[in-house]
Amino acid sequence: MHTSNERMLAHWWMVKGNQYMVCPRCWYPLVSIDENLKCPECGDSHEPEDLKALWVAWHAKMYPVIHEE
Ligand SMILES: [Zn+2]
Repeated sequence: MHTSNERMLAHWWMVKGNQYMVCPRCWYPLVSIDENLKCPECGDSHEPEDLKALWVAWHAKMYPVIHEE
């Protein structure tokens, strides 16, 4: 489980480092194209507000796992 926690924590830092603009399907940093956010991996488009809400909810759900001592 320790390895898994470290992976989730690293992922969380990556999400925050990209201001939450990360594809929820691929965990891939999104690129901004004409004010739309498009995933370079799967091609999905995302709204910035939706992404932030999604990742904040993800963090709240994963908090006990990520920050387990
Ligand atoms: Zn994607």
